[in-house]
Amino acid sequence: MSDVSLGNKVGQKVLEAYQKLGSSCKPSTRSNGANEWTVLASIVAIDRSSNDFRLISLGTGVKALPDAFLHRSNGKMVHDCHAEILALRAFNAVILHQIAFLNSNPDSEADLVERSHQSQEFSFKSKWELAIYISTLPCGDASMDLLCDDQGIVEMQENDPIQYVDPMVVSIVRGRFNYSKKKVVRTKPGRVDSQITLSKSCSDKLCQRQVISILNCMTWNLLSKPVYLKYFITSNTTEYLHQSFYDRIRSLPNVPLEFLRCSHKFEHDKHSNEEEPCSISSVKLYLFPDSTIEQALLNGLRNGFYTKGTKPLRSNCESVVSRYSQWNLFKTIRPELSNYSYLQFKETVRDRNKLIQNCRQHLSPKGWISTSRDDCL
Ligand SMILES: [Zn+2]
Repeated sequence: MSDVSLGNKVGQKVLEAYQKLGSSCKPSTRSNGANEWTVLASIVAIDRSSNDFRLISLGTGVKALPDAFLHRSNGKMVHDCHAEILALRAFNAVILHQIAFLNSNPDSEADLVERSHQSQEFSFKSKWELAIYISTLPCGDASMDLLCDDQGIVEMQENDPIQYVDPMVVSIVRGRFNYSKKKVVRTKPGRVDSQITLSKSCSDKLCQRQVISILNCMTWNLLSKPVYLKYFITSNTTEYLHQSFYDRIRSLPNVPLEFLRCSHKFEHDKHSNEEEPCSISSVKLYLFPDSTIEQALLNGLRNGFYTKGTKPLRSNCESVVSRYSQWNLFKTIRPELSNYSYLQFKETVRDRNKLIQNCRQHLSPKGWISTSRDDCL
């Protein structure tokens, strides 16, 4: 199969899956008549020998929580609800669910993960190649060239401190400030007057996945080796992706993404500046061929469960892709780690932490600005 038809085939599968999402997960028309737009992303496994395409996860969304919201999260609020990050979170949750199933059903098999020869370890089946589909270019460095006529753009002098979260860290720029500056880490874009999020742009996060892999600290612990994406498929242009994704990590060991186009358009793309970004995000997990979980999210929680201000969060408010949900599933597989908190455990995953540190050093030589701690038991 040629690269063009592979890109189209994956894109078509993802767009068909999107059409089956419930309407509560999708953009709508606001009471003032404005149409909403969103971004769609998905992780798809491809077995090229049998021409098999297996959707693993799907995400929609364009929102991230302000850092100030995180103090009451305790692992339950999903900080970054951009589509591609939700799709990656959901990918890890699917892997955890398959391992939990294999762990408690010793005679059964799963389609993505298998038991490894070494005891207590699992492998992602080697027949699968992985693609990420994204309906448009990821926010941040890889998409800055496309933004010239967009809203929320602020050009400024190179020495203007307002563009930085911390003026001492000039290799991290706020959102779309000083948009012509290239190859810098950016925080998630937002309205200029909105509360700041310290979450990094999807370009920065996806770029790092070429070094760190797409596993989180829990699936990293359970699988015998890291899992990388092979293809990056988008309905937008791929011409800006190379310099942003390759140049910034060139000197680190990495598995470079191959960029493919998909000619099918996503129906809820942004078409004009009169349209509004959709407040709702969503995730869908394709756990097993006959079993899925679909959730709409608002403010990082399951839609309908958000409480305002300083009130405690409601029970069952957390999404299946939240840190809290994944950590509790992980502890059923590794009960010997029950005395650890999530962050205590994460500190022990030293080989992965070293890759993260190296990557951050390359992307932002002047230092790193982390989001607030968000731990859970
Ligand atoms: Zn993004």
